[in-house]
Amino acid sequence: MLVYTIARAVTGSVPNWLDLNRAAARQRFEGEVAGDRLPRLIDAGVTVDGDVRFEADLSVPEFRSAHVPATVSGRIVADLALQCQRCLEAMAWQVDTDFDWVLVAGDEEAEHSDADPVLLQDNKWMVMDAITDEILLALPSYPRHAHDCAVDDGAAEHED
Ligand SMILES: [Zn+2]
Repeated sequence: MLVYTIARAVTGSVPNWLDLNRAAARQRFEGEVAGDRLPRLIDAGVTVDGDVRFEADLSVPEFRSAHVPATVSGRIVADLALQCQRCLEAMAWQVDTDFDWVLVAGDEEAEHSDADPVLLQDNKWMVMDAITDEILLALPSYPRHAHDCAVDDGAAEHED
């Protein structure tokens, strides 16, 4: 007969998604996420330089409900290349952000919480989607080089 250990802490690598119905009460994830696992970043014109560092602690209440949701807190560190909107060349940008998420089935459940809602899909926490959204939120709306890169505009346009 299988004996369950209460509140066992499990550390694992970073999955694409996790079924909360099968998750441990407390679980830690840490690892490197390759850029090709985050295709929506590429669609947004963001290049991942190396891997994305992800650390997260998941807590799933024993009687999980809309009012007592699962929570995740952690940190994302990513070295990215964005396109400068002034000179259109690549520019390095580092995201280093802490997050607090509540994993909810619908938008209305999130209203009570100060944490950022992450929508579950059929009780699954879509880890890669959540990482992608967090990174996109951390990007500047108008990326441009800190130096005055537009000065040599004329020199850059040499096509004739
Ligand atoms: Zn520039």
